[in-house]
Amino acid sequence: MDKKESETLISFLNEKWQGSTCPMCHVGKWSVQDKVFELREFRGGSLVLGGTPIIPIIPITCGNCGNTILINAITAGIAKSEKEEKNG
Ligand SMILES: [Zn+2]
Repeated sequence: MDKKESETLISFLNEKWQGSTCPMCHVGKWSVQDKVFELREFRGGSLVLGGTPIIPIIPITCGNCGNTILINAITAGIAKSEKEEKNG
């Protein structure tokens, strides 16, 4: 994630984040990953390359209990959907 993407993510979280504490431990020392990860569709344990829908996600982890929430990177404006990329 470059500097501009990090700033986009931080302003997105500042706008959307209404809860402050962790729902599991109620401490909520959140730590945001600066990388985009992928959620891939599970297909019976076999790895299928190509044509598999992927959801780009940014994990936010509670530093106290490890509870992790996943923010969709497309919704946050960090990653483009496949459709948007084809259209430029
Ligand atoms: Zn927690």
